[in-house]
Amino acid sequence: MTGRGFVRAFSDWKFSVITLALSKGRIFDETLPLLAAAGIEVLEDPEKSRKLILPTNQDGVRVVLVRATDVPTYVEYGGADLGVTGKDVLIEHGGAGLYQPLDLRIAQCHMAVAAPVGFDYQKAVRQGSRITVATKYTTIARHFFAQKGVHVDLIKLYGSMELAPLTGMADAIVDLVSTGKTLKANNLVEVEHIMDISSRLVVNQAALKLKMARIRHLIDAFASATQEA
Ligand code: ADP
Ligand code: MG
Repeated sequence: MTGRGFVRAFSDWKFSVITLALSKGRIFDETLPLLAAAGIEVLEDPEKSRKLILPTNQDGVRVVLVRATDVPTYVEYGGADLGVTGKDVLIEHGGAGLYQPLDLRIAQCHMAVAAPVGFDYQKAVRQGSRITVATKYTTIARHFFAQKGVHVDLIKLYGSMELAPLTGMADAIVDLVSTGKTLKANNLVEVEHIMDISSRLVVNQAALKLKMARIRHLIDAFASATQEA
């Protein structure tokens, strides 16, 4: 096959398939019932398989497994037609080029400021002290403290934010909380509720036009399943 023949064959094939980007864990698990409502069943368990591309019971639909923070990027650049990702991830990414038709109301949690039991956060805020805050969510944290008029030095981390105050590296953290168990286990308390978080459906804008009918069908099925939940 010539180079151009390959490109044409690839684009014909790509047009015939819908690719959905998901991340492993909570988002994958909670998206399964929504897919089921659209008649789609994922044929492999990502916890047992090493595959990154999972087939479904429909020839024209496949799932790709990507890191949570990479979902918007895959959808933005057309590596996937659609994806499911947290509001936190979308805010940090910026959401450029993504159509966001639906809040799926899955993977619910909230973004919070937490500090060690012994740190008087409210007093530090009242006194106008500079606070050192460790977080993976620097955009959300910067906006939140700016709007509150609190001076912060942000330290960007990629994981286990809870460790930063325990090692004396930061006064507080900005992190996602669902049960609060992780905070408690590390002697941290929530001192501010920043925003509620849930996961959304995001769609590549070109794919939405090129594969309108199939994507509409998915959006509608997800929407009615979400309303019933
Ligand atoms: P990663 O480990 O790949 O950095 P996370 O596991 O922290 O990503 O989170 C992936 C997504 O799942 C987040 O963007 C968020 O929207 C959601 N999420 C994370 N933590 C929780 C939680 N405790 N409860 C509910 N949803 C969560
Ligand atoms: Mg994780």
